[in-house]
Amino acid sequence: MKLDTTHLRYLSNEDWRVLTAVEMGSRNHEVVPTPLIAQISGMRGGSGVQRSISTLAKIGLIGKVKNAHYDGYRLTYGGVDYLALNTFSKRKTVYSVGNQIGVGKESDIYVVAGETGVQHVLKIHRLGRISFRSVKANRDYLRNRNSGSWMYMSRLAATKEFEFMKVLRENGFPVPEPLDQSRHCILMELIDAHPLRSVTEIVNPAKLYAELMELIVKFANHGLIHGDFNEFNILVYEKSQKPIVIDFPQMISVDHANAEEQFDRDVNCIKRFFERKFGFKSDQPGPFFTKDVNTTKRLDAEVMASGFSKKQWKELEKYRLQVLANEKDDEGEEGESAEQAVDENAEGDSEEEDDSEEEEEEEQLVQEEEEEEEEGEIIGT
Ligand code: ADP
Ligand code: MG
Repeated sequence: MKLDTTHLRYLSNEDWRVLTAVEMGSRNHEVVPTPLIAQISGMRGGSGVQRSISTLAKIGLIGKVKNAHYDGYRLTYGGVDYLALNTFSKRKTVYSVGNQIGVGKESDIYVVAGETGVQHVLKIHRLGRISFRSVKANRDYLRNRNSGSWMYMSRLAATKEFEFMKVLRENGFPVPEPLDQSRHCILMELIDAHPLRSVTEIVNPAKLYAELMELIVKFANHGLIHGDFNEFNILVYEKSQKPIVIDFPQMISVDHANAEEQFDRDVNCIKRFFERKFGFKSDQPGPFFTKDVNTTKRLDAEVMASGFSKKQWKELEKYRLQVLANEKDDEGEEGESAEQAVDENAEGDSEEEDDSEEEEEEEQLVQEEEEEEEEGEIIGT
């Protein structure tokens, strides 16, 4: 989904109030009933609320949903994007949004500028943006389909990534400096370096290889396994040839049942890449999880004790397992009705949907933005 900031500066205070009310109502309602929106917004007289609702719906920040019990609205990804940007704007961490520099399976990456013009990276997590090819996978997915939960999962991923970047940075790991987080978005230092995959010249592959292997072991010595340690998630400075590691939502603990397997996968990913790209093969075997790792510090426990609970970690992992299972299903049923693929990109739709009671129970992360002032600078584009 594109981040369209066109309307950011034109929204009135009332519009923001109503948008915030829809977000707050979403914590315990999959579809927020219109009277509740009015009530939470605290705006007197229905016409103002109605006007804002129409404005927000027209530009796709909320979507109308009709169901068996009542009509109401649901926040779209566009709506949460605006709320997050507004929060950054008020905290003066983001002033303007620039070009998109990356689009991953589950994130969008933009260059943004702070007030002084210094550039940062905005990573917007978009979990649930997957096309399922097979009919069966569609069916399974649709059964659990709930835009509220995609948003919730995206928020979990952002929280996890931000909290880990903080402790990693504090412990001397080469990662971008984490600057701010709101909802499903994180703001971090812009690294002026290219991913290893597209770096044209590595002067000394053996040296970089050794550094990367040391890093994998250092992660594990601190209780962690990156889990996606590959040529896309390692940026290399052209001049110093020093690596910076990014992309942490899938990190696991060394206690995890698949720890050794993931550790080996990270190691083998680098081995394979160096062999293929630079014709470099180390004469040293390993590193090995059982032999070379000596966990003396537990950053996993540190994070769980502060910003990201064990429960949240598990919830995110459950989602990932489900995605993996669906991907496997997709492979298994290739060729089956590709046109039935669901493009989850098409969020913000106001399609009809059953709003079951259990979905309403869905836990939402407590929003730190709750007590924010309505006024404030609105980001320009
Ligand atoms: P995804 O989870 O979608 O893979 P990543 O965090 O790996 O997201 O970011 C995707 C791409 O965006 C990276 O491969 C890199 O090219 C670029 N990128 C991400 N973060 C930064 C950063 N802090 N500085 C510079 N480029 C970045
Ligand atoms: Mg990545």
